[in-house]
Amino acid sequence: MNGKVKNELVITVIYDNYRYRTDIEPGWGFSCLVDFNNTRILFDTGADGDLLLENMDKLEIDLGSIDSIFLSHEDFDHVGGVLSLLSMNSNVIVYVPQSFSSAFKSEIKEAGARVKQVHEFMELKKNVFSTGELGTYKLEHAMVLRTRGSLVVITGCAHPGIVHIVQRAKEELNDKVLLVMGGFHLMGMDNDRVMQIINAFRSMGVQYAGPCHCTGDSPREMFRKEMGSGFVELGTGVKIGVEIDVVKNNT
Ligand SMILES: [Zn+2]
Ligand SMILES: [Zn+2]
Repeated sequence: MNGKVKNELVITVIYDNYRYRTDIEPGWGFSCLVDFNNTRILFDTGADGDLLLENMDKLEIDLGSIDSIFLSHEDFDHVGGVLSLLSMNSNVIVYVPQSFSSAFKSEIKEAGARVKQVHEFMELKKNVFSTGELGTYKLEHAMVLRTRGSLVVITGCAHPGIVHIVQRAKEELNDKVLLVMGGFHLMGMDNDRVMQIINAFRSMGVQYAGPCHCTGDSPREMFRKEMGSGFVELGTGVKIGVEIDVVKNNT
């Protein structure tokens, strides 16, 4: 049980391509736990259910304490672990883009969970929002948390475009952006375009960036260099709000 959380928001990276804690195995995919205002939401579930559960066990996350699961998009590296998790705790709401295949939505329901479909921008719980389905060929929604007057944006792969996602959050909530984290999907992109994205982050006033998962090594290193102290090193086992306290410093 993680009962000692004092921070308003703590995000624990459970599953990622990058390793942070030496004892927590990395793997291709993404999942993090969001502890916020007495709610515990699992954001995505990685590719492999066994690795997800093993990492959650090592991180001493009580599966029964999770009240909802947010699935960003239907790629295997984000939804792969969900049925394993539901076999341990199905008393959850699973937020999915409306465009998810009906076969997969049925599987989630058959596992005993309640499915809540998301299409437009909406508040899921107090100060927890979905951007709504964005993109064209692969629809995806991102999670936006409103903390003390500034926003934290969490993305799965950011297929609709990381800048587009952050703009959407800003438009809807009209707040400054504290942190953007998750997969930015910039693999193989040339340096000039990555630089444009970093500059867009600057002009949108993004204070901290935590690119991980499918961002790509080289773009991630550019973010590290360009953002300086605004770069957040993410990987398996890291706790944002505890080890890296961008949230607490935000007054
Ligand atoms: Zn991905
Ligand atoms: Zn993806």
